[in-house]
Order: sequence, then C-alpha cells, then structure tokens
Amino acid sequence: MRVLLVNSPSVEHPMARDMAGGLGFDGGSAVVLPPLDLAYMAAALLGKGHQAEIIDAGAAGYTREEAHKLIRAQRADVLIATVSLPVIYNDCAFLKEIGDYFKGKIIAKTAITYPSILEEILKKSSANLCIYGECELVIDKVISGEEKRGTVFMDGGVFRMDENIIVEDMDSLPLPARRLLDNSMYRYVLLGDNTTVMQTSRGCPFPCAYYCAYPLVQGRKWRRRSPEHVLREIEDIVHNHKISRILFRDATFTMDKDRAHAICDLIISKKIRINWWCETRVDCLDEELMRKMRLAGCEGINIGVESGDTEVMETQAKIGMTFDKLKFIREKGRALGLKMHFLLMVGLPKETKESIYKTYRLVAKLRPETIGVTILTPYPGTPFYFEAKEKGWIETENWSEFGGHRPVMHTDALSSKDLYYAQKMLSRIFYCLSVSGYFSWFKAKILGLCFKMWASR
Ligand code: SF4
Repeated sequence: MRVLLVNSPSVEHPMARDMAGGLGFDGGSAVVLPPLDLAYMAAALLGKGHQAEIIDAGAAGYTREEAHKLIRAQRADVLIATVSLPVIYNDCAFLKEIGDYFKGKIIAKTAITYPSILEEILKKSSANLCIYGECELVIDKVISGEEKRGTVFMDGGVFRMDENIIVEDMDSLPLPARRLLDNSMYRYVLLGDNTTVMQTSRGCPFPCAYYCAYPLVQGRKWRRRSPEHVLREIEDIVHNHKISRILFRDATFTMDKDRAHAICDLIISKKIRINWWCETRVDCLDEELMRKMRLAGCEGINIGVESGDTEVMETQAKIGMTFDKLKFIREKGRALGLKMHFLLMVGLPKETKESIYKTYRLVAKLRPETIGVTILTPYPGTPFYFEAKEKGWIETENWSEFGGHRPVMHTDALSSKDLYYAQKMLSRIFYCLSVSGYFSWFKAKILGLCFKMWASR
C-alpha cells in the first residue's frame, strides 16, 4: 500500500508536537523538531514492503490549503496524520477536510491516552481509527485492520478502546526514515539549526508521574535501546544525513548511568564529532559521567528542577533531589563547560507566592545558562488531573489552552492570574539577568523587587 504520513499544519501557533511526552507544547518557532513517530512508522512500513512518504506541514509552515494540495497529489491508499493536544481542534478540522476528498483510510496519530478525548478526536475528525499506542512495529497490521491494540475506533456508533501496546524490545525498532524528511528544517534553540532528534529510551518511573506527561504517554516502565543500537543511528545521522547536532528526547537520558557511559564511550572511540543535548535528573548524574558526556560532545543538559522551594522540590516536585545535589551538579557543569537549562514550573499544589519567589532566588543564585518556565498543566489522565478536578481547580477544558504556557487552573493558594504573572516574571527577570550591561542588571533588580512585593502580599 501507499501510505502518506502527515505532520499536521500548525495554524494557530507554532507547535512542538514532540514535547510534553508527545502531547505537544507551545515551543514557539525556536523549537522545530522532526516528527520522529512518523519517521519510525514510515521505516517500519518500508521494511514490510509498503510505500511511504512524509509531509511535515507543521515544520514547513504550510497552510491547511497548501497541505491539502500536496496530499491530493500523492494519491495514497492510507493517510496517517498527527493530532496534538494544544491544537486538537485545528488538527481535527484538518482531518475532517481531508475526509471530503480522500477516498482511502484516514488514521489519526496522537500521544493522547485519555478515552473521552480520543473519542472526541474520532468524532470531530471523521478519522476511521486513531493510534494512541506504540504501534510502530505492527503498523502494517494496523493499516490492514488485523491489529487493534493501541488504537481507538467507533464500532457501530460505539466508542471502542483496545488495550495499549508498548515496544518492549527497543532494539527491534528500525532506524527512523530520516531520508523522507527535509532535515534542514529542524532546529532546537539550545543547539541551533540543522538539529535532529533521537529517542534512546521510553518511559519514566519517577514519582513526578503525579503531574508529568511522559509517564502518562510512555508508561512508568523504563525501556532502553542498547548502546550499539544507539550508535547505529548516530552513525546513520552523521554519515548518511550529514547532521552533527542531536537532541536526545528521552525523558531521563542517564537513567542507567552505565548505559550512558557506554554510549559516550562508543562515540569517543569511533571519533564521532557531534554536539548533543539531553534531558535528565540531578540524581541520575555524577561528576564522572558528566565529564565523559562532555568528552563525547554533550553541549548541555535540561535539568528538571521545577521549584526553588526546597520543601516543594524535595516532597512534591522532584522527590530524590535536594538543593545541595543541584548546586553540586550546577557547579560541576560550569567547570566542565556543560550548559544547564533549568526546567521550572509554577503551580504545584504546595506552592505559594512565597515559594515561587524562592524559585527566583534559586535561579539568581545558581545562574543556569538558560531556563524554561511553564505553568503546571493538569494533563488528563495524570493523578494530578483527577486531584485538581476533584478540588474544582480546573477552570477550562478547552484543550487548546493546554500547551504549558497558559493557566488553565488555580490552586488553593494561587489564582490563575498569579500563575500567569509568576511565569512571565520569572522569564523576564532571568532574561534581564542573562543579558550583560548595567541597564539589564538594573532592570532585573527592579523586577526582582516588584516580584518580592507581589510574593509578600
Ligand atoms: S523524572 Fe522528568 S520525565 Fe520522569 S516523571 Fe519526573 S518530570 Fe517526568
């Protein structure tokens, strides 16, 4: 069969569909990442003798009309198109328009796992089927209708959700079909242009699953590719696609420190010159590993910090992490030339205005190279979502607001306005602190004072 895989256009705002565990995130135009899920499915289909093409309408900046024109020209038998949470209504409308002229099977592909939203996708998009599980290895059977696991569909007007499916043996995955992508379109703000993405593990077992999208989408069981399998893909990226910047999109890249050492050893021994970036936790790092990572080309690390209030950090945001460990890792990183991007969050239930002010103090003290501040989003299906719902904190279930940068809830201590203000202030103050010059320093001081006054009210 001829299968066309489409990363849907991002009409409303630039969408980092791969972020937030795959649910999608308002990353802005500085984060444009390849649709790895489609590239994996395309590779598996090609391996089974099907034909496959990918249109990345989101990255190319195509309008819906332009994307329709390209889809019509392809004359495919099956079409698979992405649906992300913060652009769900746009994506569904796009799929519905495809249904007006496309005569083959239309399949939605999403990372959303919440049944009522999956049903909404089917109803609003007119897709015949929606893939929510890890169906890469059985995608040929999914399109032929032989495999239902990991999918939802309507059966005589009744919504059906088949059991989920995950890839247990990660080494059985094919290498993503990057040759079907225009790899020059992708960039990651912290690495630069011409960056690609790799995923060397899936799942995350840490207790922050309470609010985090990664375990919700990928499960709490950590599954990993072997260092040799990872190396094969790196060599493919470097030698066949001439790309030298890689963003590892694992939830916790250094979960198994021995494996991280082995991956670095292979990169070093093969003399592969790449610049890369990863995300991990402070308690999955140590000095020896960081030194090895730097030698293997690691430019920087996204560190989940969330809150600067030690009580919130150690009991709710990042159980297992302490301020002292964070400080140690920050200092070692600086000495080794490894950049640190702190991932911060406002809105955890234990937070108050005062504790958010402590996040500002922490950032001002440890001075990571960059920060990213999001507003806690109650992703449907997380324990936090159910708690927030029960307490009446959620103010909207308009999913297009669930992109990490808009407040969709309040807590007992913080209004949605407070959360928005805190996120903006933290970002603005940090920006001023990171720009050199007296004026910026002075502006940071003034903003810091305003923030302190707000916190004490
Ligand atoms: S360690 Fe990171 S990815 Fe894993 S559950 Fe916690 S916040 Fe999510």
